[in-house]
Amino acid sequence: MTEKKVAVVTGASRGIGRAIACELASRGMFVIINYNGSREKAEEVKAEIEAKGGEGEACQCNVADYEACRSFFKEIVRKHGHIDVLVNNAGITKDGLLMAMTEEDFSRVVDTNLKGTFHCIRHVSRQMLKQRSGRIVNLASVVGICGNAGQANYAASKAGVIGLTKSAAKELASRGITVNAIAPGFIRTDMTEVLSDKVKEETAKMIPMGSFGEPKDVAKAAVFLASEEARYITGQVLCVDGGMAM
Ligand code: NAP
Repeated sequence: MTEKKVAVVTGASRGIGRAIACELASRGMFVIINYNGSREKAEEVKAEIEAKGGEGEACQCNVADYEACRSFFKEIVRKHGHIDVLVNNAGITKDGLLMAMTEEDFSRVVDTNLKGTFHCIRHVSRQMLKQRSGRIVNLASVVGICGNAGQANYAASKAGVIGLTKSAAKELASRGITVNAIAPGFIRTDMTEVLSDKVKEETAKMIPMGSFGEPKDVAKAAVFLASEEARYITGQVLCVDGGMAM
């Protein structure tokens, strides 16, 4: 049994997930640093957390795999006794114009971003319902609100995450579990690093605040939604986007 609050952050080996994991650990939580392929990077996050006096452990699980998620959460409960926070952050892009998009690229993005979020909520909610408490934070995107040419699969998956968030919030509210989403705009991570300088420049022009955000900007919002201070907030979508979607 772990005395500290236990937080699970999916896709915490890099980018926004990494920042969220570090921020939650700095607030005294034991953090499960989930990754899919980047074991070394996840171990680096653990080392960073420990260097600052926090605690966590790296755990592999492909969120797109329903049964793997079942075992992942079962093992966390067996080891730690409770799960207080789940941040569904794992996500991928496979961009392309609609007319050229393969069925495989559509499915892979939906399987990770939307079904992965469903799998984790499905398996964690059993434990949170028993506890009659919990905080779930899902990473959506402004693209799920506004759409984006070249990202039909990604936009559909993130719009789905918003619908899933609101439905789960309604189902779980009476048991003390809140479910909210964060919709980041463009944040400086590996996911946006692949964009050409021209696209980055053009995108920055569409952001009222004039520049991309940092992973920490999203992490601060996630930590708030995961905290006791946010106890009366559920089913909401918080844009962290420099004003992009307003
Ligand atoms: P990133 O730098 O590309 O990192 C993605 C993370 O997700 C990695 O830790 C990766 O783990 C993990 N992951 C991918 N597939 C997985 C799977 N099947 N199972 C478990 N983990 C998996 O992405 P990011 O920019 O930080 O984005 C994080 C989240 O924010 C995503 O949901 C993304 O859609 C959302 N978002 C990002 C932006 C942005 O501008 N960056 C904007 C809006 C929303 P491995 O390294 O092990 O593969």
